Amino acid sequence: MNADARKERSILDTEVRFIKGVGPRGAELLAKLGLICARDVLYFAPRTWQDRTEIIPIAKACEGQTGMFLGRVVDAKLKRTRFRKTILDVVIEDDTGYITATWFNQPYVADKIGKADRLLVWGKIGEYQGNRQLVAPEYEVFSGEADETEGIDHTGIIPVYPLTEGLTNRRLRRIVSNCLDGYLAAIEEFIEPRIIEKRELPSERVALRNLHFPKDEEAKAAALRRLKYGEFFVLETAMALRRENIRRSGGAPRITVTDKIDEHIRKLFSFPFTEEQEKAIGHVRADLAGPAPMNRLLQGDVGSGKTVLAIYSMLSAVAAGYQAVIMAPTEILAGQHYRTLSKLLRKARVKWGLLTGGTPPAEKRKLLADAASGGIDILIGTHSLIEEKVDFKNLGLIVMDEQHKFGVLQRAELRRKGLNPHCLVMTATPIPRTLTLTVFGDLDVSTLEKGPPGRQPIVTRWIPPDKRPEAFEFIRTHLAAGRQAYFVYPLIEDSDTIDVKSAVETAKELEGIFGEFGVRLVTGAMDAKEKEAAMRAFRSGAARILVATVVIEVGIDIPNASIMVIENAERFGLSQLHQLRGRIGRGRHKSFCLLFSEPATEEASKRLAVMAETSDGFRIAEEDLKLRGPGEFIGTRQHGLPEFRFADIIADWSILRSAREDAFELVQIDPTLKRNPKLYEKVLEKYKGRLDLIEVG
Ligand code: ADP
Ligand code: MG
Repeated sequence: MNADARKERSILDTEVRFIKGVGPRGAELLAKLGLICARDVLYFAPRTWQDRTEIIPIAKACEGQTGMFLGRVVDAKLKRTRFRKTILDVVIEDDTGYITATWFNQPYVADKIGKADRLLVWGKIGEYQGNRQLVAPEYEVFSGEADETEGIDHTGIIPVYPLTEGLTNRRLRRIVSNCLDGYLAAIEEFIEPRIIEKRELPSERVALRNLHFPKDEEAKAAALRRLKYGEFFVLETAMALRRENIRRSGGAPRITVTDKIDEHIRKLFSFPFTEEQEKAIGHVRADLAGPAPMNRLLQGDVGSGKTVLAIYSMLSAVAAGYQAVIMAPTEILAGQHYRTLSKLLRKARVKWGLLTGGTPPAEKRKLLADAASGGIDILIGTHSLIEEKVDFKNLGLIVMDEQHKFGVLQRAELRRKGLNPHCLVMTATPIPRTLTLTVFGDLDVSTLEKGPPGRQPIVTRWIPPDKRPEAFEFIRTHLAAGRQAYFVYPLIEDSDTIDVKSAVETAKELEGIFGEFGVRLVTGAMDAKEKEAAMRAFRSGAARILVATVVIEVGIDIPNASIMVIENAERFGLSQLHQLRGRIGRGRHKSFCLLFSEPATEEASKRLAVMAETSDGFRIAEEDLKLRGPGEFIGTRQHGLPEFRFADIIADWSILRSAREDAFELVQIDPTLKRNPKLYEKVLEKYKGRLDLIEVG
């Protein structure tokens, strides 16, 4: 950091009490709004803006209209009702007529309006007993003193800020205005002129002025666009640096997949790869051969054929003399990978093993010893792979399956454990593009969108309680025809005992209805052996019904299962419903997803409607993100999503995309940001520590 930069920081860090018109009392009030220093005030976003050019003559106001009115206060009455409620009626009058503004249970408004000469109100015109009325409009009071009327005649757009008790909008406006006069000059540009020009952005300074006092809508819009862009640009520069950092860290195992190896691997599969799989294989081959570790996200809907990529990458690593690891989120899924590999590798010389929490101690010791000595090539497992402190002789590749919940931090942690292995993260929850650009913004992405050919579409129906008997008959026909069915029961976090019980009870009930087809149960409360036994019975077809809590969420592949019943479907999130649905439609048979539900909320109904309407995982993911918001969607506090003052990753997606493009291009040209010191400073200020950035320069 150079001397100028230090100076700039110190000026903008000036405490608000030194801003003209604030003082110690004012500073306390501003602190309640989170405004501590001059910079905070400059970047304080108005809640909304008011166009003062549009004051409407009261006589012209009609019901249903939203507008702004300015009038003399001719009457103000505060009434108390029998139930200690209050009603404040204020009548204002201009040269054309009068109107009543009413506030319920806000007696303090009376104190403020009582002394007023004139009142500016804005809100929606309603009707009460035949008269026009404004209910709880926003307002601003004006008394006779000269400087107090300032602003009334101001034409143009006025900011309206979030307030706190004791602070008026007008006072805050004056403070902001003073702050702009005193400190705006200290704001320095951090985006290169070339980019500013290309994106037709105002400078940071102009944007800040117009954020508060724009002369027209256009200036305001440009200011917001610039401020959002700036926030995204800083984030994406951090992402680009991180990626650059991994790229330049080097030292990754060089894994060249020769055509001969390629041929060998392909021969293991009974089917040709799809075009999308080929493309992804191309990406992986290029990554593995490079000097830097692969850092790739493979996303593809359930059943889209990601396992092929996992196996291809692992065998490539093994062929080059390295070990590989695949980590799955559940024991069942790890077991499934183990079986898939065992089938494929029967005749190969590769050695593989399975390590989970349920692995007996003796076996575990042997596996750990083999991993350390190189006696094993591929280790399949659950989280215990991390927890057990497994040492490898020469780990070359980590595959993480279904790990959409892992953010940047977890990945960095894992990387530190290995030497500098390649890393392939696979996720079946299609990640909305907004998140692949932010939380996962430093990863390279491959996508399997279509999946293998010849799949049957899944029909999804929402079944209300009174249609259940019919649904059961429908299910019976399919079971009788040889198909299999899942019945899924949601676990609620803080009452899982009750719900496990409900799954147990349901299993009994279904036993009564469908006993002849064989009913088995899996719950999270069962131990690994019991679970595995139930799964085995279902897999072999001995049981045609599997009753489960959400432990079957991911990865299970039983092509003969064509029915998925989801009980209390309204309790699941969209992505989860979609994942569950992905358990069926994997074979030749037409499949049906039946959502048993009585949705209590509008949002729940919306989810079910989206499910019935589409099976496009990417669309569902976008909808889910919109319904739940990014934090909930990613499902962990450590999601690594930055907070923005102005930007919204969903609504401002197109700005995000351009900022990303520019930032990545910039880091290509200026990888240590030597030529962009202001930008570098901003990036460190905001993301240091959070994104595991290296110190450059
Ligand atoms: P997921 O992406 O959910 O992990 P899988 O890799 O388990 O999907 O693949 C789902 C099913 O599709 C598996 O039975 C797999 O054998 C099959 N499959 C994968 N790729 C192809 C392909 N190219 N052609 C035909 N079937 C395929
Ligand atoms: Mg899978």
